[in-house]
Amino acid sequence: MDLHLPLSRIKLLNPEFPNKSTGIINGKSSGLLNWNDISYPQIYDLYQILLSNFWKAQEINMQDDIKQWDHLSSTEQDVFLRINTQLACLDSLQTPTMCQVMDYVTDSSFKAIFAVIAQQEAVHNESYSYILSSLVPLSEQNNRFNQAKTDPIVQKRNQLILDVYESFRENPTPQNLFKLGVNSINLEGIYFYAGFAFFYHLARQQKMLKTSTMISYIQRDEMQHAYFMAQFLRILLTENPELNTDANIEYVYNAVGQAVQLEKEWANVILRDIDGIELSEYEGYTEYLANKRLRQLGLQNLYIERANPMPWIHVFSDEMMNGTKSDFFEQKSRTYAKVTQSNGFDEL
Ligand code: ZN
Ligand code: ZN
Repeated sequence: MDLHLPLSRIKLLNPEFPNKSTGIINGKSSGLLNWNDISYPQIYDLYQILLSNFWKAQEINMQDDIKQWDHLSSTEQDVFLRINTQLACLDSLQTPTMCQVMDYVTDSSFKAIFAVIAQQEAVHNESYSYILSSLVPLSEQNNRFNQAKTDPIVQKRNQLILDVYESFRENPTPQNLFKLGVNSINLEGIYFYAGFAFFYHLARQQKMLKTSTMISYIQRDEMQHAYFMAQFLRILLTENPELNTDANIEYVYNAVGQAVQLEKEWANVILRDIDGIELSEYEGYTEYLANKRLRQLGLQNLYIERANPMPWIHVFSDEMMNGTKSDFFEQKSRTYAKVTQSNGFDEL
């Protein structure tokens, strides 16, 4: 396999091939999905977890938050609207990207997961709109979206991910798919959290609790998405050892390190006027999250090992989501460990 040749867009139906795909990319697959005959049965469990998390914005009555809104300080209102629209921007990118990946992934069970993730991103997007429509008129919503589009610190933060997503759109090679997966983990598993921290901070002061309920549902989904992307990458690298190189493992550490840096910069801007969130503590939290994402990939901590410095952000913890195995890799020596198929599932 040439890592730099575009994957072909697979045909919808290939009757000569089995339903159980021979690979997640470049596999022989009929295109039909029988969940009882799939290459990685754990993917079905993940599918069930994603579906059991199903929720929709309208289930949450915003009346209490509408009453409280006028009592927030102007700084709190400003940061609230900025974060809401900036997070909506991230989800807006993720919906079409997950759909696009489906064209090149040959395993039908993985396509189904990407479809569910895309659907959930659409729900997230709607929930940000739902919150906005409860609180401010459309003209103000549009101002805030324009602000999110032109804010240089937001642009800088998102550019890293955008560049990689656009590269895959233009040139859907295995190498670009690998990079897309890594940057998806950054988006799902690191970039949302300064925003989440703000809403949970309001909630612990008993403010805007309906919004934070929605945020906690979004967080639960995002954590599951980051986890799936980690599993997807591990399988991709295991099935395609040409991708499992020292250079690519180094790419993961660098990309995660850059995302941590950008998230810290953004947090320092967006949260600097909010009393009660220690920015140095948030920086430690970002590093703590990055270590977690790397361990889910079967890699080593990039930052010092620490307990969660902001436990109040973790309404849903990774441990709670994925059972007992999340620390499996913590004891390994700090080397560029290659990904193997067997270590691909120990954290599932
Ligand atoms: Zn989302
Ligand atoms: Zn997501």
